[in-house]
Amino acid sequence: MLILVINSGSSSLKYQVRDTETEEVLTSDLIERIGISEIKDHGQALDIVAASIEEVLGDREIEGVGHRVVHGGERFSEPVLINNEITRAIERLAPLAPLHNPAAVLGIRAITAKWPNLPQVAVFDTAFHRTLPEHVWRYAVPDELYSKFGVRRYGFHGTSHDLVTGLAADYLDVERENFNAVICHLGNGASVTAIKGGVSVDTSMGYTPLEGLVMGTRSGDLDASIVTQLIMREEFTAEEMDTLLNKKSGLLALAGDSDMRAVTDRVGQGDEQAELALTAAAYRLSKYIAGYHVAVGGAQAIVFTAGIGENSIVFRERVCKPLEVLGAKLDPELNAIRSPEVRRISTEDSAITILVAPTNEEAAIAGATAELIA
Ligand code: ADP
Repeated sequence: MLILVINSGSSSLKYQVRDTETEEVLTSDLIERIGISEIKDHGQALDIVAASIEEVLGDREIEGVGHRVVHGGERFSEPVLINNEITRAIERLAPLAPLHNPAAVLGIRAITAKWPNLPQVAVFDTAFHRTLPEHVWRYAVPDELYSKFGVRRYGFHGTSHDLVTGLAADYLDVERENFNAVICHLGNGASVTAIKGGVSVDTSMGYTPLEGLVMGTRSGDLDASIVTQLIMREEFTAEEMDTLLNKKSGLLALAGDSDMRAVTDRVGQGDEQAELALTAAAYRLSKYIAGYHVAVGGAQAIVFTAGIGENSIVFRERVCKPLEVLGAKLDPELNAIRSPEVRRISTEDSAITILVAPTNEEAAIAGATAELIA
């Protein structure tokens, strides 16, 4: 089935046309600066998309559109066929994802206006984590924060964690229902998920994607009083604090570079600032993996995915070294191999199998869309 996959940002529109039978990508691109260039709105961006799609389609037709939607709140635990009510529900979740959900709605409405008869599916980043138990999703704060404001752990990168869980279970020939693992999705944004019996039972991102690991530009875990104190002292406004923690922290703050490849290159040249950043990021992840190993009652596998997870030999090495106390042993030669396939990088006698698996969120969104439409 030919599916158009849309990832709509407030000023950008990323798209891909995929054949879900052959996994072929017919075309893909990113349109930026919507609203601040000659491209006035998402409707106009879609005209550009339509023109470029037409060139590659020949006599074939797009049969459905899959939208990546960041926040599905407590309602959406799986992909859904979009109608007016669903669109409004996504819109109503805007307070939880003020940048992302309204952008997704712009994309959905632009498609509806242009191709009213084309079925559209929403695939939510939070959906896979709807299985978190209450003692995990609750923060230890007064209930009104949850009941009035929806403050709880939601978790993100669900599409990727879900896909990679399936790939790893298949690779190890374990039934998904019996599969316990720790999945590390390490891109510019990064999160780690505890998988028990094939489902998510804990994850490092929380109410927003800020919590958890040291990321490219996000701080991850910190003492909330840092925020309240600095705002109370009027050193920063709430908006400035938000930007500081989401856009100016993480590797960027520690090393001056948000890009892991740049950081590890500098580490190779003996740069101390980069060394600190790498050590801090790896240490944080090692702690989470060890904790989640306990959370799932013993992980069969630790799985690395996304840009850093799939490519950074050095980062994987740093993360796995302290895990030797758990009996997890990285094989340095296997770790150094570059390949786009699912592969084992631990030794034969490692107590926990360590894997690298390629994520592909667009393929997963297209697959889910085609399945629902069919
Ligand atoms: P996004 O979250 O934007 O989808 P990606 O999954 O593409 O991010 O991951 C981007 C990160 O992967 C960057 O930090 C980049 O430096 C890192 N990365 C990509 N290739 C390599 C590599 N060969 N070595 C180290 N890091 C890499």
